Amino acid sequence: MVEIQSVHKIFGELHVLKGVDLTVQPGEVCVLLGPSGSGKSTLLRCINELEFISSGRIYIEGEMLGMYEAPAPKWRFWGQHEGTELRRLKDKQVAAQRSRIGMVFQRFNLFPHMTALENVMIAPRKVKGISYEEARQNAQIQLERVGMGDRMNHYPAQLSGGQQQRVAIARALAMDPEIMLFDEPTSALDPELVGEVLQVMQNLANDGMTMIVVTHEIGFAREVADQVVFMDDGMIIESGTAQEVIDNPQHPRTQDFFGKVL
Ligand code: ATP
Ligand code: MG
Repeated sequence: MVEIQSVHKIFGELHVLKGVDLTVQPGEVCVLLGPSGSGKSTLLRCINELEFISSGRIYIEGEMLGMYEAPAPKWRFWGQHEGTELRRLKDKQVAAQRSRIGMVFQRFNLFPHMTALENVMIAPRKVKGISYEEARQNAQIQLERVGMGDRMNHYPAQLSGGQQQRVAIARALAMDPEIMLFDEPTSALDPELVGEVLQVMQNLANDGMTMIVVTHEIGFAREVADQVVFMDDGMIIESGTAQEVIDNPQHPRTQDFFGKVL
């Protein structure tokens, strides 16, 4: 389960996330929609701890991300009563939390000098320290899961964009994540390659993976999302089922957005 509570993110003068509250239940697929600049990527980057939130809290399976509660120094309370304060986790602890969260970006960013198999093996080897053989077997399973079992020894340049993106998904899965984040995973693909990637994502959803997906694929949202969330200007304007938010939006900004994209 992912719990996002009153999350704000400020870049210098720019207030990008303005109090986001969102809960994603285990096994749920949450699709995030909204205009360019509304803060969708920033929210995913905060969940993946690529950005440190300015205020608020994010919990994954009950564990607070990036911070921990510690007893506050007594002088702060004039010795009258006890209290706690939030402190940042050490980099190593943040890295451990991040390894529980899989992320797939618009650009696949595979290592060009490594085969598909090697790309999928590298993080579990380095981060989890598992043996070569165990990593290879697991990578093979994940590549088969995304329909790339027959191209494991190909280099990224020998694969189509859709195939590369499926390898990128296998790479994230190889870390055995508790949740998967997708940031416009099909936006950089030729139209005829979009379907194969969406199919892999749908299979993943059917397997019970908890997912937060930023996408413009309204069909995917209708078909797969348990929860559709519409963001604008750093806030969640509306959320509910696809039927509620996409087909019967209540807020004028949501109505305006879907009036334009549908
Ligand atoms: P798009 O649909 O175009 O991908 P988005 O909803 O993902 O948009 P974000 O990328 O989250 O939007 O950006 C939200 C706002 O935050 C934008 O105004 C952007 O310029 C700003 N922003 C994002 N990252 C940074 C950063 N590292 N430093 C400063 N401003 C940033
Ligand atoms: Mg974005």
